Amino acid sequence: MLMTGVAMTMRVVRREMELSRLQNDFVAAVSHEFKSPITGVRLLMERLQTGRTHSPERTATYYTAIGRELGRLERLVNRLLLVQQIQADGRLYRFRRESPLRLAQQAEALMQPLATDKDIRLKIEAEAGLPEIPMDEAAMLDVLENLLDNAVKYSPNSTTVTTSIRSEEDAVIIEVCDQGAGIDPAEQRLIFDKFYRGSNTDRYDVRGTGLGLALVKAVVEAHEGAVAVSSTPGKGSCFALKLPLHHSG
Ligand code: ADP
Repeated sequence: MLMTGVAMTMRVVRREMELSRLQNDFVAAVSHEFKSPITGVRLLMERLQTGRTHSPERTATYYTAIGRELGRLERLVNRLLLVQQIQADGRLYRFRRESPLRLAQQAEALMQPLATDKDIRLKIEAEAGLPEIPMDEAAMLDVLENLLDNAVKYSPNSTTVTTSIRSEEDAVIIEVCDQGAGIDPAEQRLIFDKFYRGSNTDRYDVRGTGLGLALVKAVVEAHEGAVAVSSTPGKGSCFALKLPLHHSG
């Protein structure tokens, strides 16, 4: 009895320690993610202010770059707010029937600058005559942005990321596939946990917070859907969302 009690306490302590380690890593990762766009904007602003840019083309490029860095900051803040709302169970979803193709096109347009930086081609393959599905458009846009963002982050330059959309009897399947790093089989069920970051992040030195997929899962489940991963290390990964045609809410 005593031994069982001790073993249980040890397990709880270990779990708490692991959680606190993940949270410390998280704070470090978030600070790092904030720091780099802020530094980027400051440098670009300094160049503009000192008048070292003479050509209007160069000035326009700097403004575009500032816009891109601010976009990164905005996405990061939105992601943190969303996680906080989901944690507090305070996220209000507003379901309306929307086109999954239009959603994919919107997400693709948002991610295009990041993909262009790495010469990655973003492609959509959609079945004809897809039905509309009940969704909270802003939340589902976050989901697709996260999946595309990861696909681009964890892929080498000059590869292709494909979003394919097809319908099944009572659901629409949206799948985002890349030709990137892939995910170790042992890690595939852990990556949806909050703060969890895979071992491929060290190898590829990819920045992140370990929040993206936790968010994806929470939002998809609120849509009464499911998310699944299939991945081969060194070959690539596919994340499939199954979204039902009908929602009970
Ligand atoms: P982050 O990308 O901020 O680390 P996520 O929650 O989005 O956090 O992803 C968790 C982990 O899953 C990542 O750290 C990475 O190891 C792995 N991962 C997610 N998407 C991909 C992908 N498309 N290719 C390879 N690994 C991925």
